[in-house]
Amino acid sequence: MLKIIWPNEYLKYDFGKSHPFWVERGQAFLKKIAQEKKFSYQVLAPKKAKDEDILLVHSKNYLNRVKELALSKGNLSSDTPLNEKILQASYWYVGGTILALEEVLKGNTAMNLLGGLHHAGSDNSSGFCVFNDHAIAIKKLQKMRELSPHGKIWLHGRKVFILDIDVHAGNGTQEIFYQDSTVFTVSLHQDPRTLYPGIGFENETGASRGKGFNRNFVLAPGATGGQYLKKFHQALELIPKFKPDLLILIFGADTYKEDPLANINLELNDYFKIGHALKPFQPFAILCAGGYSKKVPEIWLKFLQGLLD
Ligand SMILES: [Zn+2]
Repeated sequence: MLKIIWPNEYLKYDFGKSHPFWVERGQAFLKKIAQEKKFSYQVLAPKKAKDEDILLVHSKNYLNRVKELALSKGNLSSDTPLNEKILQASYWYVGGTILALEEVLKGNTAMNLLGGLHHAGSDNSSGFCVFNDHAIAIKKLQKMRELSPHGKIWLHGRKVFILDIDVHAGNGTQEIFYQDSTVFTVSLHQDPRTLYPGIGFENETGASRGKGFNRNFVLAPGATGGQYLKKFHQALELIPKFKPDLLILIFGADTYKEDPLANINLELNDYFKIGHALKPFQPFAILCAGGYSKKVPEIWLKFLQGLLD
């Protein structure tokens, strides 16, 4: 059964009225999916992550800096203001992604309505991201040795595939796992010469033990559904070759034609096709990353129709 992760604490991830990020899209989506009466799902609340979780990925320096900025209402970067509420919500969304991964390991597809904050690197961040939730959750589960309810060892020593289809390159995630052969990172995004964060080119393929385990697929601005889906299917072909124990989809809805922050022109129905193409890969974790148009809740629903119908 589909598990949707949404605690009310997520609503505190609020950067202000003039900021493009709108966390209420999660609530709007829950209303829509309830009206649909088509899917069986359960809404779950996670536990809040702790500092010891955050430190599996981020430096002590970074965590201290974030805490100080939250207290002084400073800016992590020019596009990412901080305050105590945003910081507390950040611990919650990390907890949400930990829960999402646990659910997948129990055999359920799980959707965290705030997650996939892929611009957060180990020692710095920007792009509306405070902590890199999926990197933290992977490292936490890779360290665990106890048995799951199904008798399987969690993720200890096992392999994870991250498919990032947010319109912006997943620079933080790429940096964190660049030398790691157990986590294959794939990002499909608009040409970084034309869009934030300005890195994520096709020749960035990993280093040292991680060489060959990072791939970037780049789309020209203005790309439409046909061009997009061609590259998307190329990216999908990498999954069975790697044989991951766990798949994570970073599902940005900012590839939509009306998105105010990017220039890819997907139609609503293209999200149905994306969901449909991912059907054979269930169960996996869906982390709802970027997406700034008012159509985001509808886009998520279209995707689920393709995935679950
Ligand atoms: Zn994005």
